[in-house]
Amino acid sequence: MELYNSIIEKIESHIGSQTPIRYDYNPNKCWEDVGGNQLVMMREAAYELGGDSKPAVNYACVTSGDYVDKDEILVYGKDLHEIRGSVPFARVAVIKTKDLVGEGEEDTEPLFRAIQDIDFVKYHVYPKGYMIRSSSDSFREQVRVSKEAVSRGINFEQVGNSYITQFKKNPDVIAVKLIFLTVDDADYAGLRADAKKTRDITLTLSKILEGMATDCHSCNLREICDEVEGLKELHFGKEKKEFKG
Ligand code: SF4
Repeated sequence: MELYNSIIEKIESHIGSQTPIRYDYNPNKCWEDVGGNQLVMMREAAYELGGDSKPAVNYACVTSGDYVDKDEILVYGKDLHEIRGSVPFARVAVIKTKDLVGEGEEDTEPLFRAIQDIDFVKYHVYPKGYMIRSSSDSFREQVRVSKEAVSRGINFEQVGNSYITQFKKNPDVIAVKLIFLTVDDADYAGLRADAKKTRDITLTLSKILEGMATDCHSCNLREICDEVEGLKELHFGKEKKEFKG
């Protein structure tokens, strides 16, 4: 399943010049999870990732290609316990799955469902003192971090372990690379553009699944289908299969 590969290949070019700190996944080093929505009031907050209108980007790309060889967390820039004020922020997940579209198969439903399940993980992680506010329209993921969490030493390794633990509950997931960015010199506009493209690909899959018409000339998804290798094949493969019954 290689629809998102061209986006994955651009991640490095969006990141600034810094070398990341890498952590291997360790399920025993997760930050405490409160199990549901929490409120961190402004007066309790140490700072916000993406606060004061700074960039705050999030997206997840699914692939069965060789982009992820183990579960790991990469941190570019200051870690949570080192930040003193609003910083730009991005969290990008690259998720290696089993091949969800096998050779010669045209059924988009398992693929779409798996991608959706994986994407929904972001709504099931509730690190204590790390209040996430997501907007799927603007691709923002802004995080308010509490003074208490900072004084207790919260860091991206622990928060990343919490995310990866959730991702790995899905049996289709093989390995996860989770990237946190707080550097000033990353190309956040480029990351945001790719967050949108990721969303557009998933949206196109859902439209294909709904059984929309197959005239590319009059289709409003043509731009993304022209750009992303594999989408047209998926659509017309599905139609062929349904026609055959
Ligand atoms: S393959 Fe053609 S008809 Fe199908 S979604 Fe893409 S542009 Fe539209």
